Amino acid sequence: MLDFNFIDQVNTLSDQTIQLCYHCHKCTAGCPVADQMEYGPDRILRMVQFGEKEKLLKSADIWVCVACETCGARCPNEINAARILGALREIAYTENIAVAEPGAVKFHKLFLLLVQNMGRMHEISLLALHKLWTMNLFSDLPAGARLFMMGKVPLKPYMIKGQSEVKRIYRATEQKKKQVPHGN
Ligand code: SF4
Ligand code: SF4
Repeated sequence: MLDFNFIDQVNTLSDQTIQLCYHCHKCTAGCPVADQMEYGPDRILRMVQFGEKEKLLKSADIWVCVACETCGARCPNEINAARILGALREIAYTENIAVAEPGAVKFHKLFLLLVQNMGRMHEISLLALHKLWTMNLFSDLPAGARLFMMGKVPLKPYMIKGQSEVKRIYRATEQKKKQVPHGN
């Protein structure tokens, strides 16, 4: 079933104008994970334009995006597809759509929890907690070991000075979320 209000919902949440997309494909051509996606950012925007809400929100593609923002930097119409993908994840989550990549939701929750408590990301903590939560203990071990040997994943977390400010931002965001209606 098509939902012709979907584009307005996504435009509002992402602060973008998806109607401007003329499908030049530059975003998908630069996306580092397009080969892991079924549609890619260009076709995802097309699906939003056509109101294919249910099909799109059930797609793993919206959880595969790593929010690198390459698509937005390449777009001739200055459409920030990363924000659109973020809005789609938020809609899927808040409208209780069966998430195609449950591990990705756990990743996002742990990421936010660590930033809330430390002020910034600590990769090893994120990795360890995510592996325990998903019980996916041994995948990616060679890649993780290589990054560790290259000094890319420090053991000791870096605690920022303004932790109370970060916590205040989280509290304000929670308040704001209670005031903003989702869905139609
Ligand atoms: S680069 Fe911009 S205009 Fe081109 S397909 Fe992607 S979003 Fe649409
Ligand atoms: S933000 Fe997402 S969709 Fe855009 S280029 Fe990066 S991974 Fe691809």
